[in-house]
Order: sequence, then structure tokens, then C-alpha cells
Amino acid sequence: KKLGVALVGLGGYSSGQLAPALQHTNNCYLAGIVTGTPAKATEWAHKYNIAPKNIYNYQNFDAIAGNKDIDIVYVVLPVSMHKEYTIRAARAGKHVICEKPMALNAADCREMIAACKKANRLLSIGYRLHFEPHTQEVMRLGQKHVFGKVTKIDTGNGFVYNGDPNAWRLKKALSGGGGLMDMGIYAIQGSRYTLGQEPVAVKATQQKTRPDFFKEVDETIFWELKFPGGAKVTGKSSYNDNWGYLNVEAEKGKFALEPAYGYGGLDGTINGKPMKIPNIIQQAAQMDDFAICVKLNKQSRVPGEEGLKDMKVVDAIYRSLDSGKWESVG
Ligand code: NAD
Repeated sequence: KKLGVALVGLGGYSSGQLAPALQHTNNCYLAGIVTGTPAKATEWAHKYNIAPKNIYNYQNFDAIAGNKDIDIVYVVLPVSMHKEYTIRAARAGKHVICEKPMALNAADCREMIAACKKANRLLSIGYRLHFEPHTQEVMRLGQKHVFGKVTKIDTGNGFVYNGDPNAWRLKKALSGGGGLMDMGIYAIQGSRYTLGQEPVAVKATQQKTRPDFFKEVDETIFWELKFPGGAKVTGKSSYNDNWGYLNVEAEKGKFALEPAYGYGGLDGTINGKPMKIPNIIQQAAQMDDFAICVKLNKQSRVPGEEGLKDMKVVDAIYRSLDSGKWESVG
């Protein structure tokens, strides 16, 4: 049986990526929606053939507990709402996928993990790249020391934000931060999965060329991460530069991805030669894998703990911006 997924929040990512990807999944399907906008409910019900009894709003959401069609709730809301809806979904007896960044800070991530454990429900983060073949190749090359130990990583992720100045992404209370929370999280994670290690300390600096636009949130941040293996790791995030690369040097070779973090197709090289790896629908692979995990009652390869690891680094980067010093990750 295909498991039923309910998408909570029908914004850009749900409508542009997740719902279309759910037309290509084998182990789960789009069974329900949660939206505060009645017109969207009507449109989606028609487009995706969703039964009226599987359509919820933010007021009656908890009634999803009694709905056997819904096995998995996928939280695709502004970051400040991730914790509340993840916890409410788990308490309603549903397994949960929560989008990145997992929450406003590491403390909230810990609460979410504890709540899902208490409810005996599985929690996964929307980290699609762990199911993506170029990324998996980088993990293999780096973690298995195919060219010896990794000695150096430089990575950046960002885009030029020219959207609505009133959008939630620019409001700190709703987003938790700017380019770092939204885009930098991928670069942090890229370093972690290339090395297969957790960073112990970080030092960061920031730059704002459009302070009037980025009033509340960070625009561009540069950081250096200290890993136990001693690799030199630098990274950057931005809402004012189009970056998306991961460059890795090892003792006896090098490899790179560019684009490294998007869902429009990745590309890469190994010692300067093209990887020639086909692209897939990342979100379909990600959701299918979680559906299998639910069926087998097995922890996802991107559980809440993985989201927490990235948020611990994000928290330390913000602390370092305040202190101007190296801050330990923890
Ligand atoms: P969006 O602004 O397009 O959509 C957000 C949705 O939340 C909208 O439908 C909006 O109506 C709804 N919402 C409910 N309450 C709201 C409130 N109080 N304020 C504002 N909106 C409210 O955002 P998005 O791009 O779809 O991002 C949603 C989540 O998905 C974020 O966590 C984002 O980081 C994540 N995302 C992940 C990826 C990925 O590749 N994994 C890509 C894009 C977005």
C-alpha cells in the first residue's frame, strides 16, 4: 500500500516541487493538504484529486489524528512554524517530514526530536541531497578516502534575493535568519557529509551591501570550520550572490560539484573530468525512502538529529558574529 502524505503549507516549494514529485513516487502519494487559503484548497483538490475529508486548515489540523488516509505529515511552512506543526503532527499520531532549516535554533530542534520520540513517531528533515547520486558520490569519495584524506574544502551557497521585501524570509521572527539559515545550511552540510565528521568550532564574519533590504536578517556570511581531522574548511552563504559550489581537495586528488545544492540538476568533476552521473527527482527519492522507513519502522538517514547537527553549527556561527571569536559547536 502507498502511504498517504499531507502537505502542510502550499507555498512555492509544495506547489513547485513536492506535489509534482509526489506524482512520481512509488511508496507514497499526495493524500491530503493543510492550508489557510480556501481558494488553494479548491484548486489543489481539483488538480490532485484530493478528497474533501483530507483537506484541513490551521484551526482544525489536529483532527487529522483520526484520518487513516494520512500516514505522513510534511511541514512546508515558514521556519518559525516548523516546531509547532511537527509536534502537533506527532501528537496526532503521524510520522513527520519537516523542511529545512529544521527550526529557529538547536534548542527547538531538541524539543521536536523529543516530542516525536515520546509519540513514538519517526521524524525526518527534507534533506533531499542525501538521496541524490552526485552528492552520494562526493560522500563516498570523501568519507572513504578514495584520494586519501580530504585536506581542504571550500563551499558556498546563495542567490540574489530580489523578492517581496515583506516576505517571511526577511523577517527574523519568522525565518530565524537570512542567507545562512536558508542557503548556508547546505554548505555547512556539504562540508559535514564530505568529511563524514562533525565540526568542533567556527569563526564567522559578515557583510551587508543592501542593509535597507536586509534589515532584520543576514545577507552574506563567511566562515571557517574546525574539524577533528584537521581539514581546512571555508564556507559562505548569501542572499546577494549566486553561489552553489563545493570544491574538495584530498591528498591525492580533487573533486567538485557545481551546481552543488539545487534541485534543478547537479553536475560535478573528479580530477577535472566530468562525473557523468544522471540526475533524478530528488524529492521523489527522498519521500519514497521515508515511506519505506515508516513501513519498516526504521530511522531515516536524515532524521531530526541530522537537522539538529546543522542547527548547532548555525547557532555557533551567529554566536561568532556577535563575539568576533571562535565559538565551539555544541
Ligand atoms: P513560501 O513562502 O512559498 O510558502 C510558505 C507557505 O506557508 C505559504 O503557503 C504560506 O501561505 C504559508 N503560511 C502559513 N502561515 C504563514 C505565516 N504566518 N506567514 C507566512 N506564510 C505562512 O515558502 P517556501 O519556499 O515554500 O518555503 C517553505 C519551507 O520549505 C521553508 O522551510 C523553506 O526553507 C523550505 N524549502 C526547502 C527547499 C528545499 O530544497 N528543500 C526549497 C524551498 C523551500
